[in-house]
Amino acid sequence: MRYQSTRDKAKKVSASQAILQGISAEGGLFVPEKLPELSAQRLEKMVEQDYIQRAQGILADFLPDFSPEEIAGCLQNAYGSGSFPGAKIAPLSRLGQDAYLLELWHGPTCAFKDMALQLLPQLMAVSAKKSGGKEEIVILVATSGDTGKAALEGFRDVPGIRIVVFYPQEGVSPLQKLQMATQEGDNVFVAAIQGNFDDAQTGVKRLFTDRETLEKLRERNRTFSSANSINWGRLLPQIVYYVSAYCDLVKEEQIALGDPVNICVPTGNFGNILAAYYAKRMGLPVKKLICASNRNNVLADFIATGTYDRNRPFYATTSPSMDILVSSNLERLLFSLMEEDDAEVKDLMHRLETEGRYTVSPQVLSRLQADFAGGFCDEAQTADCIRRVFSLYSYLCDPHTAVAVSVYERYRAETGDDTKTILVSTASPFPSRTARLCASWRRGSTASRT
Ligand SMILES: *Cc1c(COP(=O)(O)O)cnc(C)c1O
Repeated sequence: MRYQSTRDKAKKVSASQAILQGISAEGGLFVPEKLPELSAQRLEKMVEQDYIQRAQGILADFLPDFSPEEIAGCLQNAYGSGSFPGAKIAPLSRLGQDAYLLELWHGPTCAFKDMALQLLPQLMAVSAKKSGGKEEIVILVATSGDTGKAALEGFRDVPGIRIVVFYPQEGVSPLQKLQMATQEGDNVFVAAIQGNFDDAQTGVKRLFTDRETLEKLRERNRTFSSANSINWGRLLPQIVYYVSAYCDLVKEEQIALGDPVNICVPTGNFGNILAAYYAKRMGLPVKKLICASNRNNVLADFIATGTYDRNRPFYATTSPSMDILVSSNLERLLFSLMEEDDAEVKDLMHRLETEGRYTVSPQVLSRLQADFAGGFCDEAQTADCIRRVFSLYSYLCDPHTAVAVSVYERYRAETGDDTKTILVSTASPFPSRTARLCASWRRGSTASRT
């Protein structure tokens, strides 16, 4: 399996090159030429497997230039080495009759980014060995908070790689700032920028394609890569947990093999929900993908109208990892919905850059609406949802997760669709756990570089 750029299909690279480069030279994103298939037979086998075994099968399909031993080694280092304490990597918690919370925050930094960012450095180190390059890799990361700390933790002291994280000075929580500023490791760098996450992301993307910068980098025998979800190596680990959650529901006899489920995802950069879309396209029985936004509801509007318009106020909310107006990974979805019309995708992305908006054709819109439902909720609804979920189910959810729960409840009431639904829980609600983390930093040495 090879990977192609969403803005120039003729550009084809191997899996390891896609992971190493992060983004294609002309600014497009790498996508697999063809998706592997998840037959009912395969799923049936997976039901009996554990998380790492399920991941092994899925990764092998997407990474043909990795040996089974290399993949097993990467998975073991990422998920098997104690960074995910507890019996399960991504456990499900039942919420009422038909909903299940998929908890993706049992990793070292307490948010779902760990699921991919514990694995990506492993995949990148193997890819670098394959390319035979003697260059040092410089990872550039734009973050609204959670990606930065998870990437720093994942890449710290990985040989041959250094990492630079840019975060919006006023856009991250005090805890996140602390997590980043106190990160240990000899290869980690952190910078606060003036602006919001979109400014950070746009700036980083520009660096990737800036000739002068690239030239200087080459002189120093270095090369850029990305740990943002523009990197295929970020999305791939996320496909695994959707498949695994489905298998767990079958195993626990909540559904029968083949039964459809809905998946509701609190969305920012469109990476997490895109992984669910790929799982659906591969054959996982998924009916609707419910895209949940906070007050920054650019995606909900897009799914309703077919017009993506970032010309609107930017709100800082209690779910800051979703405070995004330019969702990078939408480009990959458009490429798929537009039947891989790279010229058209390039044109839309150009319009987004210059005018801040674009509209897709009625045909593309109807394809979009066949797979996706969109919704959003405001701050009061988010807070109310946390309170209600706690009083109904004695379950405490964080504000990002609450956005998903709230949007799901409304979707269900409005459509009458009572399909069993996986609600993605993206951050830990427990201050005690984070307080413990803070305490452990205070005890440790402070190798902060801000
Ligand atoms: C990153 C993040 C999101 C949004 O995920 P995307 O892949 O960017 O859509 C939601 N919740 C939390 C806690 C996050 O860290």
